[in-house]
Amino acid sequence: MSSPTPTSARPHVVIVGSGFGGLFAAQRLAKADVDVTLIAKTTHHLFQPMLYQVATGIIAEGEIAPATRVVLRKQKNSKVLLGDVFEINLEAKTVTSRLLERVTVTPYDSLIIAAGADQSYFGNDHFAEYAPGMKTIDHALELRGRILGAFEQAELSDDPEERAKLLTFVVVGAGPTGVELAGQIAEMSDKTLKGTFRNIDPTEARVILLDAAPAVLPPFGEKLGKKAALRLEKLGVEVQLNAMVVDLDYDGLTVKEKDGTTRRIESQCKVWSAGVQASPLGKQLAEQSGVELDRAGRVKVNPDLSIPGNPYVFVVGDMMAVDGVPGVAQGAIQGGRYAADAIKAGLHGQTQEQRKPFSYYDKGSMATVSRFSAVMQVPIPGTKKKFETEGYFAWLGWLALHLIYIVGFRNRLNTLVNWFFAFSTRGRTQLAVTEQQVYARTALGALSELEKKSVPEVEAESAGAEPDPTPEGTKAEAS
Ligand SMILES: Cc1cc2nc3c(=O)[nH]c(=O)nc-3n(C[C@H](O)[C@H](O)[C@H](O)COP(=O)(O)OP(=O)(O)OC[C@H]3O[C@@H](n4cnc5c(N)ncnc54)[C@H](O)[C@@H]3O)c2cc1C
Repeated sequence: MSSPTPTSARPHVVIVGSGFGGLFAAQRLAKADVDVTLIAKTTHHLFQPMLYQVATGIIAEGEIAPATRVVLRKQKNSKVLLGDVFEINLEAKTVTSRLLERVTVTPYDSLIIAAGADQSYFGNDHFAEYAPGMKTIDHALELRGRILGAFEQAELSDDPEERAKLLTFVVVGAGPTGVELAGQIAEMSDKTLKGTFRNIDPTEARVILLDAAPAVLPPFGEKLGKKAALRLEKLGVEVQLNAMVVDLDYDGLTVKEKDGTTRRIESQCKVWSAGVQASPLGKQLAEQSGVELDRAGRVKVNPDLSIPGNPYVFVVGDMMAVDGVPGVAQGAIQGGRYAADAIKAGLHGQTQEQRKPFSYYDKGSMATVSRFSAVMQVPIPGTKKKFETEGYFAWLGWLALHLIYIVGFRNRLNTLVNWFFAFSTRGRTQLAVTEQQVYARTALGALSELEKKSVPEVEAESAGAEPDPTPEGTKAEAS
């Protein structure tokens, strides 16, 4: 176990997470008289809003995931540690993380926790094996492999039923991520892959967007939701609402309608974008400080984003529950910056009582539906009304805004070039898939199951037979 105690006597700020909340908090502390240690389980900052473009071959993963230590290279008061934080001790004021077998205990004076959220399967975690979420680069690359793999398998199949199953893509969850994914899978099969196979016609692929709710894009309101649904239907996406997934397996899923009847959809390639569950680190904070969690595991922070009895422990981003603050990038960025400012003000003698409560500035929301089409909602200053628009201009606004927030000049340039290619020719430059991208998640899952078993049990199981490096469940996953 190692302990990278800071060598200087300056206050030590530890930040957990290199997403929007963590990275923007670290950058806000660039000129502060503190030492900053940012601990994250990924080496990169991830621009999640464009993951679906990685999954559907428009851009490469590096364009939306700059290495955090490169981003912070010139910030001399900051260092980056790779590690999965598994323990926060509020009394000892330490954060403990693990990288492979190496355990590191990092002491803090101030702590900003921005560990984000994962996919929620609403208690059906076993669905994850057959319907990955869309939260990480691994997810996006795996989905790319599954989509393209399904077309490849269909090309080889002579059985019409099997082909139909392989060419049916189901996206569960009609929020922004689901809408964007469904739209792009449809465009990819209809345009990019058209004419590339000899035995199948990719344009005949079915793309189904399912949701238990009665509307598409509920946070955008009825009008924009209906327009987005119409646009998707024009692209050939089947929008199925009031349809709750009650079972899901390798070959398909079972859906329960509003009237209680159930039906089966045969589909090999499924993706889950229907709900979030905040980082389990919130539970540790609740147990130690008594702070409450909401149903999604988010921490009900104080008005200054701290937790009870710990004025210098802040929870920001998707992990925090604050009325009126949605789980979006701006909520995390503003929360991270607020926490950094509170720490800086504390250095100059500001007490917790003197802090102004966190206030969220809503800059509006957007979602793309397809090439040249998006929905946009922007608050009108001084009123409670929102300006709403959809179509081409909303799409241009989406492009401009997302380009601004991608970290790094070269990444912006690469993305711009790839967008130009994808949107003008409908070609996609990122259609490569490796075997590992398709198998890795389930193979790792199977490995960790094996690890959980005792050594003698494993030995007994493999006695007399060579262990299979690709467990059965993993093989069955390929799609
Ligand atoms: C597919 C998708 C599309 C989206 N589209 C939009 C959009 O169009 N517009 C918008 O505004 N918002 C969008 N969002 C939401 C937005 O991305 C999030 O609200 C935002 O990323 C939250 O920031 P965060 O810092 O709280 O968490 P994240 O950005 O998720 O970062 C969490 C960080 O914590 C690290 N971490 C997690 N657990 C641990 C641990 N135990 N130890 C160490 N490190 C850990 C992770 O590696 C990561 O670095 C989208 C989200 C997704 C998934």
